[in-house]
Amino acid sequence: MRRALCICASLALALQGCRAPSAPDNAQPAASASADANASADAREAANTLDLGPWRENVDGLITDALAKGRSYAMLEELCRVAPLRLSGSKGAERAVAWAEATMRAIGLENVRLEPCLVPHWERGSIERLEMRELDARENLRILALGGSVATPKGGLRAGVIEVKSFEELEQRADEARGKFVFFNRPMDPGNHDCFAAYGGAVDQRSAGAMRAARAGAVGAIVRSMTMRLDDSPHTGAMNYAADGPRIPAVAISTLGAERLSQRIAAGERFELELELDCRTLPDAPSHNVVGEIVGREAPHEIVVVGGHLDAWDVGHGAHDDGAGCVHALEAARLILARGLRPRRTIRVVLFMNEENGTRGARAYYADHASEMEHHVLALESDAGGFTPRGFSTDASAPVLRQLSDVAELVARTGANNVFPGWGGVDIGPMAASGVVLVGYRPDDERYFDHHHSERDTIDQVHPRELAHGAGAIAGLIYVVADLPERLARNPLKAQPQR
Ligand SMILES: [Zn+2]
Repeated sequence: MRRALCICASLALALQGCRAPSAPDNAQPAASASADANASADAREAANTLDLGPWRENVDGLITDALAKGRSYAMLEELCRVAPLRLSGSKGAERAVAWAEATMRAIGLENVRLEPCLVPHWERGSIERLEMRELDARENLRILALGGSVATPKGGLRAGVIEVKSFEELEQRADEARGKFVFFNRPMDPGNHDCFAAYGGAVDQRSAGAMRAARAGAVGAIVRSMTMRLDDSPHTGAMNYAADGPRIPAVAISTLGAERLSQRIAAGERFELELELDCRTLPDAPSHNVVGEIVGREAPHEIVVVGGHLDAWDVGHGAHDDGAGCVHALEAARLILARGLRPRRTIRVVLFMNEENGTRGARAYYADHASEMEHHVLALESDAGGFTPRGFSTDASAPVLRQLSDVAELVARTGANNVFPGWGGVDIGPMAASGVVLVGYRPDDERYFDHHHSERDTIDQVHPRELAHGAGAIAGLIYVVADLPERLARNPLKAQPQR
C-alpha cells in the first residue's frame, strides 16, 4: 500500500506553499544548491511531487531517538504502577490525572493545565458470581459485570436461560425470554480480517443486550466476551439502559465459559443460573482532561492535537487501552522537544477522561474549545493499543489524505506509512463537526482484543520496541503537519455532534 510521493494536479494548487518549503529552523539542509539539487527540484516540479526533504532528517532523528533513547515504555510502566485501575470517578483516575500533569511538566510542555469535566462514577463492588445450578452439581463461570450494570438482589438472582445469537432471534423468541436470563453468544467474526470491524459487528450485544433483554421481560443479560481468543478471562465494557425502560443486571462471560454454557444448553441439560452482583452507580464526580502544549513558533493559534484517553477499565492495567495511547502522545511531544524542535503551529497533547463509559471528557473539550475549533488543523488519537505500527486511518478529504500519505512516507521505517480512509477516534470524534481532520493511529490489531477490557491488559503484554516505533511514527507525523508552511485544508463541516 506504499505510494509514491506524488500529488495530483488539482492538489498542486492547494499545496502552492508546501512545495519547496523553506527549511524548518532546526533542519539541516541536505545539500547546498548544486546542479544536482536544481535538477531534482525541476524533476519534482514536473511530477508535482511534495518536497518533504527539509523534514526528513529531523523525522529520522525522532524515530531513532524513540528507539534508542525513548521513554514511552518507562512512562507506561509508571502509569500502570501509579494508577493501574483508573475508571472515571475512581481514586485511580484521580491519581492518573495527577500523574499526567506531573509528567507533562517534567517533559517540558507549556501551558499544562487540568480542564474540568463531570464524569459517571460506577463501582464494580466485590461480588461477581455466576453459577450453573443443577440437581446434582454446581459450576462457577468466570464473569465481569458490564460497566454501568445494576446489582442483583442480595443473595443472587436465579432463573433459567435462553441462548440467542442476535436481537432478531431474541425478538422471535421473546416469549421464551420472559423471566429468564438471555445469553448473547454471537462470537466476533473470525473471517473478518479487520479485528476492529469484527468487534464492531458483535459489540451491540454488550452495549444494548441488557436493554433488549429487559424489553422482552428477561431478568438479566449474559454476554459472550468481545474477543476471538478462547480463554477464561472475561472482558468488560460499556453498556446502556433505555432511559425509561427496566434495568436488569448485565455481565460478560469468558469465551470458554460461553462455550460450556452453550454446550449444556445444546445438550438439553436442565439447570438454572444464579447471578449475584453488588456493583453500584454513585453521583457524577468531578474529573479532568489533562492538557499541555508545545507552543508554535509562527502560528501558535493553529493547533495540532495528539492524544489518547487517560481512563481505563477497572481490571488489568489498561496498558494497551489506553495507557499506550497516552504515552504515545506524551512521548511524541517529548521527542520533539528533546531534539530542540519548535514547529510553526502549536502541538497540543490532550489526555481525555472518560472515553470508556461516557465520553464526557471528549464532549467537554469540544464545548470548551468551540471558539478555536476553526484553528484546529488536525487531531490524532492513539487508542488501538501499543502494537507494531501499520499506518494511520483518516477522515480527510482525498487531497489531504494524499498529503498525509506523503508525510507518512517519512516514517516508512516504522511501518506506519499506510494512510487509508477511516475514522479517527472516539475522543476526537466531536471535532469532525467543525471540519477538523481526524487521524487514528493504526497498529497491528491481531492481539488487541486478547487484552482489551480484561485482566490480561497488563504492562508485560506491551513490547517496548513496538510501543517506541509507534511513538516515533506519531512524533514524525505531527511534527511535519505542525510545521508545513501551509496548514492542511479543513474537511467540510458536518452536523453538530449530539450533546
Ligand atoms: Zn480505548
